[in-house]
Amino acid sequence: MKQTLISEQRVFEEVINAISEGLGIDRKRVRRESSLIKDLEAESLDFLDINYRLEQAFGVKTARHSVLEHMEEMFGEESAVDPDGKLTAGAVKVLALRFNSSGGDLKPGMDMDEMPALVTVQSIVDGVMNLLDTLPETCPNCGKQDWRVEEETRIQCGACSEPATFTNGDDLMDQWLTQVQEKEKIF
Ligand SMILES: [Zn+2]
Repeated sequence: MKQTLISEQRVFEEVINAISEGLGIDRKRVRRESSLIKDLEAESLDFLDINYRLEQAFGVKTARHSVLEHMEEMFGEESAVDPDGKLTAGAVKVLALRFNSSGGDLKPGMDMDEMPALVTVQSIVDGVMNLLDTLPETCPNCGKQDWRVEEETRIQCGACSEPATFTNGDDLMDQWLTQVQEKEKIF
């Protein structure tokens, strides 16, 4: 369900913490539109560290596989990346939907190695919000509808203190891709 216990602004603050601590940079450099790779000089390993910090903060599980890997799993080999490592037209459509704030340079034939540069601070915030929005209506442990926030970022049941569990990032990406395919008929 769409949750309102943790605001988008609060998530943004926490993403700033994770990035500035993970990369060892000043908080002021972290803007919503910053590309982690292009503007903040992040490297691939830094993404794991930043995701880990966000998982600890919110009790979520972020996706382990990229959207391109999910596409190939769902729609077949070479549906996202051709044998030369170039993005297909289908991949470009999907990435444009996923990174709509930063997909300006996207075009078919673009090298897949350029994809990580699309990840912006805002796209990470959106990703965390989407995970938090998988909060179930009621507590799976006691059935009560009494979610509360502990320590600013952790949702737990007010009745039985069970921490909330959310859909994990890889499953959520599969659900999203299925919806995109139904609506846009990409393949
Ligand atoms: Zn409960």
